[in-house]
Amino acid sequence: MEIIDVTPRLRMLRFPVGQAYVWRDGDALTVVDTGTAGHADRIAALGRVERIVLTHCHDDHIGSAAALRAATGAPVHAHRADAPVIRGEAPRPTPVIPPGERELFDRVTPTVPRAPRSPVDREVEEGDVLDFGDGARVLSIPGHTPGSIAIHLPAHGVLFTGDTVATGEGAPIPGVFNTDRPRLLESVRRLLDLDPAVLCVGHGDPVLGGTRSA
Ligand SMILES: [Zn+2]
Repeated sequence: MEIIDVTPRLRMLRFPVGQAYVWRDGDALTVVDTGTAGHADRIAALGRVERIVLTHCHDDHIGSAAALRAATGAPVHAHRADAPVIRGEAPRPTPVIPPGERELFDRVTPTVPRAPRSPVDREVEEGDVLDFGDGARVLSIPGHTPGSIAIHLPAHGVLFTGDTVATGEGAPIPGVFNTDRPRLLESVRRLLDLDPAVLCVGHGDPVLGGTRSA
């Protein structure tokens, strides 16, 4: 696990597959996504984990959620549309893979271990405000999965996009492996119009400043 300091209160955790973020309020940590399975102990060692927020139900984001919850007692938050998948009560939503994504999909998918199912303690939806980052707003941004969410910290200009946005060569690009690409593109526009100072994407480096023009 590689730890990258993004701002004094924000770190990115990079795993061999996938990545996650840790936001700090005093000594309380909020973990946004958890990478693949097997990283819970190292995440828990970073400090007092107060909550776990999952941006969507894919295995490379929820993989360490159950173990991290067990190790820390932190409640797991996810959108109500993806929560049944995370709990193992519903099948994974099937992505529609366009020809341009096929080679990447076939190459990457076998490298992602199956995630253990995890309880979801709090189902969230559009408009909810979570008690971290001086008010963390939940945005419902379907398209990558039906229950994809973004988390916006307006007081800090920080936006966590999950896989709705990625970065390539330093610029934001639409996410891949989506259940509904037209809806995803609407969601991408909505997110980039927020013009966050710190754009924290699901795959790739964060983008600092000027995301609307990018
Ligand atoms: Zn995903």
